[in-house]
Amino acid sequence: MSEVLTNLGYIAACVLFIFGLKMLGRADTARRGNMISSIGMLLAVVVTLLSRGIVTYQWIAVGAIIGTLIGAIAAQRVKMTAMPEMVALFNGFGGLASLLVGWSEYHRHPDSELFTMVATSLAVLIGGITFSGSMIAFAKLAEKITGKPILFKGQQVANAALLLAALVCAVWVSLYPSQAYPIFIGLVLLSLVLGVLAVIPIGGADMPVVISLLNSYSGLAACAAGFVILNNVLIVAGCLVGASGIILTNIMCKAMNRSLANVLFSGFGAATAKKSEGYKGEAKPISAEDAYLLLEAARSVVIVPGYGMAVAQAQHAVRELGELLMANGCDVRYAIHPVAGRMPGHMNVLLAEANVPYEQLVEPQDVNPVMETVDVAMVIGANDVVNPAAREDKASPIYGMPIINVDMAKTVIILKRSMASGFAGIDNPLFFKDNARMLFGDAKATVSALVGEFKSG
Ligand code: NDP
Repeated sequence: MSEVLTNLGYIAACVLFIFGLKMLGRADTARRGNMISSIGMLLAVVVTLLSRGIVTYQWIAVGAIIGTLIGAIAAQRVKMTAMPEMVALFNGFGGLASLLVGWSEYHRHPDSELFTMVATSLAVLIGGITFSGSMIAFAKLAEKITGKPILFKGQQVANAALLLAALVCAVWVSLYPSQAYPIFIGLVLLSLVLGVLAVIPIGGADMPVVISLLNSYSGLAACAAGFVILNNVLIVAGCLVGASGIILTNIMCKAMNRSLANVLFSGFGAATAKKSEGYKGEAKPISAEDAYLLLEAARSVVIVPGYGMAVAQAQHAVRELGELLMANGCDVRYAIHPVAGRMPGHMNVLLAEANVPYEQLVEPQDVNPVMETVDVAMVIGANDVVNPAAREDKASPIYGMPIINVDMAKTVIILKRSMASGFAGIDNPLFFKDNARMLFGDAKATVSALVGEFKSG
């Protein structure tokens, strides 16, 4: 394939990526966006296979078959609740791929010019950090290691010293590549250690932000690898991943009212002793029958789903309840917090799967100003994202995080199994408010009971 045709193919692939990404920004076009981006990737792969100096088609075929099998099985089998772990693994492998591309190119041409060596060093450094950091993020989310921040004295100084050492190695390798193989191996090892040390001090509750940041890193590593092997589509795709990852990171930090530096360095969640003094009062349980009476009389209901809805797989029952409420003349909205659940867009995906109309989904900033006019706010397996301590309790670790102000609705019904805390591990004063009622039980069972009441009522 001529170079002109190759580049035209790459430009077409990049255009498909950009349109795909744009469409991913809206729930109603996201599926098509995903498909369009995938077609772009397929085009990029085909063009590359036809045009580059491919060393061996046999091994590529073996890799493609094994990779496709693992990807297809993982996509089918992995539970929705384990999706963030899978994303962490995929990011990590992206970083590892860039590291290996850099390493193999250095192995083949240890006398490359300065520009290529700078790109190689960056691909290895960022790729290594992404790989080991993502493995730690995976282990934390999958609860293979503690989700609590792992802190030790002088940690930040140690990390800074290691980063400096890695940068010195990278400069050395770039300037004197032909005599630097041991230094290069040092750079690989330092990058892997740095990834581990950068992620262990971060608490489990901040993992989504970390994963999105690592996603951005994996893009930057791929972009550097693109410069190493002079592949235009890899450079552009790497930039797109790098930029979109950092935009998502920023959105999530804003959703928690934290700076990125605070997420990365504050050891959030370690200080359980800092936990505010505990909230007093009596939680008021309610039965499904009584909850039904409240809902039946309501003219407006805001449903706030959270991680518990995902665990209970209650989304279909929730959609049915929403439809019954609307048939009863009630205005129904679903308020989605950006960090509800365990991954960005978690609730949107679940509700889309259950065919809840996109128009009924609203964001906190749209629903909060009118919350006082809402008859019933129904919290389904959410906890941290509706915790008024974020607004009221300066001692709370989540103070300042924007929440959905369900406590301001006329009545709030909270569906959960116990008085247990949410992911951030902090108490929730919402449960003791005068207008709050606890509907205890597995969310699918309690929502189904409400559906049953509506049908027989
Ligand atoms: P939370 O983790 O705060 O709370 C979930 C609640 O669901 C728990 O209190 C639990 O209470 C309840 N629950 C669990 N299982 C069930 C069930 N089967 N039926 C009914 N209730 C159930 O969830 P939120 O969505 O409110 O907040 C998300 C939290 O996760 C935030 O702290 C966020 O920072 C963090 N996070 C977010 C990620 C993201 O990208 N969205 C990724 C990783 C973390 P009980 O045990 O009593 O039933």
